Amino acid sequence: MINEPRKVKPPLQEQEVSSKKPQSVVSPQAKTEKVILNQVVSTEIKKVNQVYPSTDAEPQAVVVYCSDPRFQAAFQGFIHEELGLSEGKFIPLVIAGGADALSNPMRLPKEFKFMKDRLELYQSRFHDVKRIVLIGHEDCKYYESVRDRIRNFMGSQLSLSAQHKITLGLLPKVIASFVAPKVSVEIYFAKFVDETHSEITFEKVF
Ligand SMILES: [Zn+2]
Repeated sequence: MINEPRKVKPPLQEQEVSSKKPQSVVSPQAKTEKVILNQVVSTEIKKVNQVYPSTDAEPQAVVVYCSDPRFQAAFQGFIHEELGLSEGKFIPLVIAGGADALSNPMRLPKEFKFMKDRLELYQSRFHDVKRIVLIGHEDCKYYESVRDRIRNFMGSQLSLSAQHKITLGLLPKVIASFVAPKVSVEIYFAKFVDETHSEITFEKVF
């Protein structure tokens, strides 16, 4: 019996490479790009390695507001100074449109469920939560898109802000089924002081 030389199968990776296309030669430009990329990544890692203080959290409220960047500083000021809630005393739920995602459970059921699930979770997880604060704001692009999608607003001759405030005013009834009896609901509307849009003030809707 003749001993045939054993055929050694190349490793799988090699097989795959050879069956597809010849190994590519890395161009000098690609090498340079890789070096630059590595430098960027290592810089990012350095930044991530900084440390920051955590917050002692004993939340007494959930505050739901829109992510519109024009209003963030005003929201923070209002929450701290007028609602009396410092960092750690409230759970921020920041999402496009804020509470508007709750506004139409029949026509926007997924958005309603997303918000409902979280508000229920916070109430069950944090037993000191006694307030749900919902804040809408003037010129909210999310609210405008919802209104345009639904197109069933009575009195559509009203301004966007007026329609928005009516919608917000209906929310306590809409969310009553999952708000614990010990939890109160407050609703506010943030609006520009004048046409310059340089200052913002808040009014109570409910
Ligand atoms: Zn908004």
